[in-house]
Amino acid sequence: MSEHTPILYIVVPCYNEQEALPGSHERLHELLSTMKSQSLVSQESRLLYVDDGSRDDTWSIIECLAAGGNDVAAVKLACNSGHQNALVAGLAAAVEHCDITVSIDADLQDDINVIPSMVEHYKQGCDIVFGVRRERKTDSWFKRTSAGMFYRLMNRLGVDTINNHADYRLMSRRAVLALLDYRERNLFIRGIVTKLGYKSACVYYDRSARLAGESKYPLRKMLNFAVDGITSFSVKPVRMVFMVGVLFLLVALIMLIYVLTAYFMGRAVSGWPSLILSVWLVGAFVLIGLGIIGEYVGKIYTEVKNRPRYNVDTTIGLDQ
Ligand code: UDP
Ligand code: MG
Repeated sequence: MSEHTPILYIVVPCYNEQEALPGSHERLHELLSTMKSQSLVSQESRLLYVDDGSRDDTWSIIECLAAGGNDVAAVKLACNSGHQNALVAGLAAAVEHCDITVSIDADLQDDINVIPSMVEHYKQGCDIVFGVRRERKTDSWFKRTSAGMFYRLMNRLGVDTINNHADYRLMSRRAVLALLDYRERNLFIRGIVTKLGYKSACVYYDRSARLAGESKYPLRKMLNFAVDGITSFSVKPVRMVFMVGVLFLLVALIMLIYVLTAYFMGRAVSGWPSLILSVWLVGAFVLIGLGIIGEYVGKIYTEVKNRPRYNVDTTIGLDQ
């Protein structure tokens, strides 16, 4: 795809990472220097740190790192905007200067030694290379099971995600530009990236434990993330409301038969048949009504998100 050596920007979102950052930087810097000396990536390649409104010394550390070498660029967000937004901010800033980006968490739980093979895949024509964890031995039992359940649920709901892939991935310039075309507020990047449709590949690695500091994803953020992921991609929950309504209607029918038999056998207390039938029928109609309204709300929702309708891969005879 590209004969020239690509400019690589490694985008690292950081939120309160003062403990992890110095160590992470050292390793990333070393890797980048090696890749430069092997001419795998251009000399203009850099590490781009995004400070997501940290409350600790993260930003002053980044300033020091930037002063100490010319391979550091940085973006500071005015306030904490969340991992996904920090990542987009970084990618948007990087895309103007580079041919490829690699996004990675500041704790380097993901093995940075596969970055060279990501770049190799890019050179062979892939626009997106997913970093996929082989196993999650170092994560807690809870994190592993909850993550497993989440991905299964997402797939069930029709959201395309790559199993055991987080936000560790290589994206070419045009893939980043296509991602930035998705202008929705609730960003669930790993769901969108698979939708872009560009040629992609996976590289596999073992995930290690956090270098230093603690996870910035407490249960509350994890749940928010999961709900965001589902509701930004799927209107199936609304359909379920409708289906439950239909189910209630069926129950109402069964109740009708039951009530009639009870009535004719003289076992029905007066007032009970009409009452019990109304309960199920009204319930059914309310749910079906909600489901119908939900379908429209779902349509409005997809319109409001204003997603691009398609993404062009190649054209012939039409200069882009
Ligand atoms: N992060 C961020 N903003 C936030 C929360 C997290 O930029 O509000 C960054 C964090 O600094 C790290 C990455 O997102 O680089 C992933 O966070 P973490 O490693 O704590 O998540 P975990 O690996 O536990 O899922
Ligand atoms: Mg982590």
